Amino acid sequence: MSEFDLIVIGGGSGGLAAGQRAAEYGARVAVVESHRLGGTCVNVGCVPKKVMWYAADLAEGLRDAPGYGFGVSAGGHDWSQLKEKRDAYILRLNGIYETNLAKRGVTLVRGRARFLDRRTVAVGDARLTAAHIVIATGGQPVVPGIAGSEFGITSDGFFELTEQPRRVAVVGSGYIAVELAGIFAALGSEVSLVLRTGAALKQFDAMLGESMLKILGEEGVRIDTHAVPEKLARTAQGLRLGVRDGRQLGPFDRVLWAIGRASAVSDLCLTRAGVECDADGFIATDKYQVTSTAGVYAIGDVTGRAQLTPVAIAAGRRLSDRLFGGKADRHLDYHNIPTVVFGHPPIGTVGLTERTAREDYGDGNVTVFKSSFLPMYHQFTSRKPRCDMKLVTVGPEQRVVGVHVIGPGADEMMQGFAVAVRMGATKADFDDTVAIHPTAAEELVTMR
Ligand SMILES: Cc1cc2nc3c(=O)[nH]c(=O)nc-3n(C[C@H](O)[C@H](O)[C@H](O)COP(=O)(O)OP(=O)(O)OC[C@H]3O[C@@H](n4cnc5c(N)ncnc54)[C@H](O)[C@@H]3O)c2cc1C
Repeated sequence: MSEFDLIVIGGGSGGLAAGQRAAEYGARVAVVESHRLGGTCVNVGCVPKKVMWYAADLAEGLRDAPGYGFGVSAGGHDWSQLKEKRDAYILRLNGIYETNLAKRGVTLVRGRARFLDRRTVAVGDARLTAAHIVIATGGQPVVPGIAGSEFGITSDGFFELTEQPRRVAVVGSGYIAVELAGIFAALGSEVSLVLRTGAALKQFDAMLGESMLKILGEEGVRIDTHAVPEKLARTAQGLRLGVRDGRQLGPFDRVLWAIGRASAVSDLCLTRAGVECDADGFIATDKYQVTSTAGVYAIGDVTGRAQLTPVAIAAGRRLSDRLFGGKADRHLDYHNIPTVVFGHPPIGTVGLTERTAREDYGDGNVTVFKSSFLPMYHQFTSRKPRCDMKLVTVGPEQRVVGVHVIGPGADEMMQGFAVAVRMGATKADFDDTVAIHPTAAEELVTMR
């Protein structure tokens, strides 16, 4: 039996952050990881996705270039060469994570962890024990329970593709669906985005999803609305997706399921530790990340809350600050978490949607400011996607509780505005800030 102060199950964004921070305070830490270090973000999430987003962005830039006097065209794109370079980059990152653990004296245990009791974890034949155990096992993509679903791939499979499919259906309406559809489309695939309802990005302000679907449509993405998949069949022409109202979509070379993510808890034997999940299968915690069992904590995607890398990292670090750094009340506040959808164009958003603000504060207390314009960049390009912005304010002082932007640069724009929203800035504070000209961001401080 090996004894530690902290065992972390899962060497992804949250687990590595919690383990390393605890070790910096002098705790004896073990991190258990069954796959590659870095978890979803590094291996099959944010990082390889952003590499593909950059490639797609360049493709768009090449298409726009003639408008600025260049005699170039996009030509061919070597997907497999980019994949090789991307894989090599990620392998380097995996190595850096391992070195970082070693530098801090964290013990890396390779294998699949399961609870034996609330203080003991088994990994193969090894037994580890600690007063504190963090569950940071993340999640995995959901595949629909319909006939032929195995002919489709998920976001994990997207990163395994060695060739660009010519005809693709992306099934789903969340940010992963929108991002991957945008990448395929910008790189030249024929893309269908298959939605159960008429809307996309439903957890974001409605303006963003509406605008994104409009722009994707203008860029040639086929939007199949009210299409509930019932069957995926392989035919001589390719994959055909049958939907509930009888439509047969396709044929496609690839169908990608992006319909949600489930928590990775199935083989943890949680009941032996007395750890309970909520109705959706995510591990329930209090604001200090404590599960239904004292001494057992959960952070990151496995809790189902704000499933983002910086959230998992922040929750993990704060937990270790509290357990080993003497910061008794340290915990993560899940309000005002900024986020970006790396679509084409990108979306940046922080705070309340207009709808939530109206529900929380009442219609009479909410004032909304909007702006819609063609960014200067697109004055010279053949495509004309508009940039849409919205400020949601509450109360007579017009405190800004939501900032929502879709358009070029929205991704890099939002971090600073998130600081302002967190600090309680009002519309007057925004207006008092001198604009940076000529930018799209200046619209946010000049709205009337
Ligand atoms: C396609 C895609 C794009 C994304 N893009 C972004 C983005 O742009 N920005 C952003 O902020 N977030 C993004 N995310 C989300 C982000 O990847 C996650 O929020 C983040 O990785 C969660 O970290 P985590 O530590 O909770 O879990 P993970 O990073 O998933 O790590 C969990 C780890 O636990 C291991 N594990 C599981 N069970 C066991 C076990 N029993 N024993 C041992 N090890 C185990 C797994 O192998 C894994 O390595 C994206 C996700 C996807 C899928």
